[in-house]
Amino acid sequence: MTALMAVLAAVFLGGLGLLVGSFLNVVIHRVPEGASVVRPRSSCPGCGSMISARDNIPVVSWLILRGRCRSCGEPIRARYPLVELATMLLWLLLGWWALAGPGDPGLLPVLLVVGSAGVALTVIDLDHHRLPNVIVLPLYPAALVGLIIAGVSSGSWPWIPALVGAVLWLVVVGLPWLVSGGRGMGFGDVKLAPVLGAVLGWAAVSAAVTGLLAAFLFGALVGLAAMIFAGAGRKTALPFGPFLLVGALIGLLAGPPLASWYAGVLG
Ligand SMILES: [Zn+2]
Repeated sequence: MTALMAVLAAVFLGGLGLLVGSFLNVVIHRVPEGASVVRPRSSCPGCGSMISARDNIPVVSWLILRGRCRSCGEPIRARYPLVELATMLLWLLLGWWALAGPGDPGLLPVLLVVGSAGVALTVIDLDHHRLPNVIVLPLYPAALVGLIIAGVSSGSWPWIPALVGAVLWLVVVGLPWLVSGGRGMGFGDVKLAPVLGAVLGWAAVSAAVTGLLAAFLFGALVGLAAMIFAGAGRKTALPFGPFLLVGALIGLLAGPPLASWYAGVLG
């Protein structure tokens, strides 16, 4: 890829990521209430006035309005621009991995879909301690189509590693759920796990393994920190979805390099 193409791809992916992030804000606030994500148009939760197109530009509008509603001056949560920025950064990162980095360009569509859903799921899980079926279940057909696209574009079909990844994630996330009787781990986590495992496994089995390790390590560290600093008890339920999703991203990026480093150490 030439430098100019890389810059154009980054601008395109970053811009699209901002717009998708803006839509994810709608998803995050309406899906848990069972409301439509298409209509009505967004309105201020404070005064109910419709948000005009010029006040709905991702990140920029929030900065121009200094985080306040144009009509009533009610503060607009910083979470809105943060979700948009996080989605933009994720799109840039995945774009780099697939197009300029070590990854498979054909995997980019499925990574962008699962990654964007992951941003919404992370925030919803933190808010409501659940992963809504309306977001998780469509990821199954979406991932299947996405992996077929990856196979057609690259000409290689790693179905077995994808299956290994899916089963591994299902078992490792499902067993604690089964044993604990649904405490700590929710059934939503169990439903999400095979999709993440399959996509990671398609990229590399080492990505699927590293992703799981990262998810549980990250979860244990945050759980420990919550006990020490926030006085959370052993029974305090932490939503596990964000750990699975962040772990998956770490696995994708760090799994194969870690595996080859480990193989080198073993000689
Ligand atoms: Zn208002």
